[in-house]
Amino acid sequence: MKMNVKPIPSVSDRINVIRQLTAQIVNDEILPHENLLWRQQAGELTRDEDRQAVRELRDRIKEKVRQAGLWAPHLPAEYGGAGLDFLELAYMNEILAYAGAARLFGVVAPNSGNQKILVKYGTEEQKQKWLIPLIDGEMESGFSMTEPDQPGSDPRSLRTTARREGDEWVINGHKWFTSNGLKADFFIVMCRTDDPDGPAERNGKMTQIIVPSDTPGVNILRGINVWGRASDHCEISYENVRVPLENQLGATGTGHAAAQERLGAGRVYHCMNSVGAMWRAFDLMVERSMEREVHGGLLETKQMIQGFIADSYMDIQAARLMTINCAEKMAAGENARTDISSIKVFVPSAFHRVVDRAIQVWGAAGVTSDLPFVAMYHGARSLRLADGPDEVHRILMAKTVLSQYRSGEGWAFG
Ligand SMILES: Cc1cc2nc3c(=O)[nH]c(=O)nc-3n(C[C@H](O)[C@H](O)[C@H](O)COP(=O)(O)OP(=O)(O)OC[C@H]3O[C@@H](n4cnc5c(N)ncnc54)[C@H](O)[C@@H]3O)c2cc1C
Repeated sequence: MKMNVKPIPSVSDRINVIRQLTAQIVNDEILPHENLLWRQQAGELTRDEDRQAVRELRDRIKEKVRQAGLWAPHLPAEYGGAGLDFLELAYMNEILAYAGAARLFGVVAPNSGNQKILVKYGTEEQKQKWLIPLIDGEMESGFSMTEPDQPGSDPRSLRTTARREGDEWVINGHKWFTSNGLKADFFIVMCRTDDPDGPAERNGKMTQIIVPSDTPGVNILRGINVWGRASDHCEISYENVRVPLENQLGATGTGHAAAQERLGAGRVYHCMNSVGAMWRAFDLMVERSMEREVHGGLLETKQMIQGFIADSYMDIQAARLMTINCAEKMAAGENARTDISSIKVFVPSAFHRVVDRAIQVWGAAGVTSDLPFVAMYHGARSLRLADGPDEVHRILMAKTVLSQYRSGEGWAFG
């Protein structure tokens, strides 16, 4: 079944054009071949000619994406991207996620997040050295913030240090869950700056530093097994790693603010991705219920299954509208902290529930690699931890609400 994307009357013409163009590529070029693409991703293609066929297919799709002017939608035009603004990208994400197509449109995490950091904070020299090769696909990267011995949900507790010695930073620390770590040519490492000669108010604060992965002292200890499978989320020790001072990204002490900025917009994108994936799970669930006969009738005639359909419809609508509302507030420059936290809690849980029901309706087939549910299920569950676990966001929401009431005003939902 094709993704049913209709124009939305309340958004700009440009957003509608982007949605239609993206859906056309998803529906005509990707969905008809997705079994082949999934099998390649799962490492199931053993014959050289099959692997070659997938490479050619991917190149053909990428060419269509470029022709449509949609390549690298997260990057400005001057860096070869489609130059979409925040809302345009949010709306595009749900369509990409419907078919798991981001990579075919040049959006590959964590490179895409690192590209955005480099665009915003990089010096001209850093852009030439790291950003351009990253965009051209000649380099890979990782974002190294979380530490095994400190709570990632409280980033101010991070212990990795960067001590200034002459014209070098000397980095010591222990990180894990640095995604893409096995392939990365460089890491953006979050460090606590130790520079007694620097500005006093900034010493001890977080700073992001670019570290090439082949620098002596960068030890990739392992790719951590995740959900029972090998992964490239890496555990890394940084032992007396020396890099030039010019590898620092942005001003000393701005690392925490930069990470929050990255995560704020990122949470909206993650949620729109989740909505797109839920939409797909919903389509597959409804389709199956109309075809599969059990106990003398189609699944669609069973009231418990009708309940699944109705509950999933409500989960998707609520998740989608909350996310769009949050994105609109952010685009308008309003304070959306509470909304960001609320979607970060609500949407992954709704995603989890919808995929869970879709798996149930498909029976044993639902947990095989013939369908996209397993990756969705793992993704939904992991998202409740990554980018701030549920509890931290609930606390933030409650704090903001309570301080508003303490100031004598109720909450303005309108
Ligand atoms: C698939 C995946 C990919 C990732 N990729 C990256 C990456 O590329 N780079 C990177 O740096 N990190 C990455 N991470 C790490 C992720 O950001 C952290 O796991 C996350 O920030 C949570 O930190 P933690 O695991 O240390 O949990 P902790 O901070 O130890 O929290 C554990 C649990 O404690 C509870 N909790 C926390 N605070 C409170 C509170 N105040 N009240 C009540 N309960 C509380 C929550 O239930 C939480 O889940 C990734 C994680 C996953 C799962």
